[in-house]
Amino acid sequence: MDLGLRGARVLVTAASQGLGAATARQFSREGAQVVICSRRLAALQELASSIVQETGNPVFTFACDVTQPQQVERLLANTVTALGGLDVLVINAGGPPAGTFETLAGEAWQAAVDLTLMSAVTLVRAALPHLKASPRASVLAITSVSTKQPVENLTLSNAIRPAVVGLMKTLSLEMGQDGIRFNSILPGVTETERVNDLMQARASKNATTPDEERAKAAQAVPLGRLGTAQEFANVAVFLCSPAASYVNGVALAVDGGAMKGTW
Ligand code: NAD
Repeated sequence: MDLGLRGARVLVTAASQGLGAATARQFSREGAQVVICSRRLAALQELASSIVQETGNPVFTFACDVTQPQQVERLLANTVTALGGLDVLVINAGGPPAGTFETLAGEAWQAAVDLTLMSAVTLVRAALPHLKASPRASVLAITSVSTKQPVENLTLSNAIRPAVVGLMKTLSLEMGQDGIRFNSILPGVTETERVNDLMQARASKNATTPDEERAKAAQAVPLGRLGTAQEFANVAVFLCSPAASYVNGVALAVDGGAMKGTW
């Protein structure tokens, strides 16, 4: 199936590694022009060269800390200058730190709100004028299965990420008349650098090893294994593409069936 992304102008934030990087690479494979950002340029530039070498399509890199509104505004200005507009925004950021309620200091809460929720607000605000001018505008927020089912030891994610899904759903209602689709994607446990850290945190908390925690996590998935970043990226890119033009306001899990609810 042709996803209709040839020449599309795409921004993927927090994309130097993991799910963001895999998603950016897949967009490029589909013929899109892609901007990637994260806080440090060196890792981004290495990734960009590797993608360009594989696909031959342009990839631009800008340093941006998505918790800093002025940097986000500059990112959007640089993006539309580089791409000549914007069709797709993929909202991603690093995950908030692990911890139970009693282990988390007060400042960790504000930092997590800035990282997870306010970054989405500032990115959408800065992107909207450009998306309104696009004939195939789409926004996707990378959140987590924690928005529907709390994950052990991820109090900040469990508490704050549902607000992002609420924001995307609200925007899907408000901006439908402008032809802009807003969706959320909810990864389950997917093999990336972040998951190495999470397994380490669980092992310290439970006095086990990261490998034991990884095996437990795989056992909890009906498919019996963790997901790959490529499996995630395939779905993310489809949701943003014109091939999914009637999919609006959904929160789609890519979790191997791990969530127990029927909703
Ligand atoms: P990761 O930690 O491997 O990568 C995060 C990326 O975000 C990196 O490129 C990092 O440089 C960038 N980043 C972090 N803070 C930033 C900031 N302030 N400004 C700009 N860039 C920043 O994470 P991942 O596994 O790829 O996950 C991506 C998102 O999905 C995270 O929010 C994560 O919590 C969430 N998630 C991941 C999983 C999983 O199993 N991998 C599951 C559920 C949710």
